[in-house]
Amino acid sequence: MAKLLLKFPGGFKKAFTVSYDDGCPNDKRLADLFRKYGIKGTFNIVSSWKYDKSVYDGFEVASHGLTHTKVDHISGSNLAMEILKDRENLEKEFGQIVRGYAYPGGAYSTEAERMLGELGICYARSCGRNEWFELPLNFLKWNPTTHHRNEKLFELAERFNEWKSSYPALFYVWGHSYEFTTEEQWERMEKFLSEIGGKDDVWYASNIEVYDYCEAFSRLKYSVDCNMVFNPSAVDVWFESDSKVYCVKAGQTLKIGK
Ligand SMILES: [Zn+2]
Repeated sequence: MAKLLLKFPGGFKKAFTVSYDDGCPNDKRLADLFRKYGIKGTFNIVSSWKYDKSVYDGFEVASHGLTHTKVDHISGSNLAMEILKDRENLEKEFGQIVRGYAYPGGAYSTEAERMLGELGICYARSCGRNEWFELPLNFLKWNPTTHHRNEKLFELAERFNEWKSSYPALFYVWGHSYEFTTEEQWERMEKFLSEIGGKDDVWYASNIEVYDYCEAFSRLKYSVDCNMVFNPSAVDVWFESDSKVYCVKAGQTLKIGK
């Protein structure tokens, strides 16, 4: 029997997510654009900086460090405080459990990666780019597809919209809303969102929703012959086997094959 392929909720093979950093005043206009085109995503906030809490309704709020200090500049308890205190502040402010993170300034350290995992962070976004649509192998070192300024942005959108393979495709765009300084830049972003948004074959999700769903998929248990699949998690999981799409409901075992 063929390998099981992940399908996103609803049986979709494509998902789209965004992640915007620093909690800037321009987030309001950007969040409104996301709402207009049905885009879900994540804002990474520095809790010691000024930000407007009312902007982020309906979006995931994630950590970006207490003071935006690069993780390769600090270690030990200072690093732990940057992560944990920011989580705590944001959780009190927004009333949601903060499990996501974006590395400030894109700096990375193995100590930070280990500590993030120990301090309740499930995924951490880097500032790298893979210019492709693969799911991360390691969510604590999650490379997005691209920054929005990339000149290949529209070419990537076209490739994503025409995705034929049955492999799952995740398109992940990141940036800062303060980078939109001219109307032309806003118009370019809106044009991009209008080409990506509102599709009935794409799952629009926040970063943590992507993480949680992939986790649920990775927790599926199989019989030796792979004809029985048990889903021990609390969400329904979709997958493809031998060119057929199945849904195994939360907590249930599905018999597939003959
Ligand atoms: Zn930042």
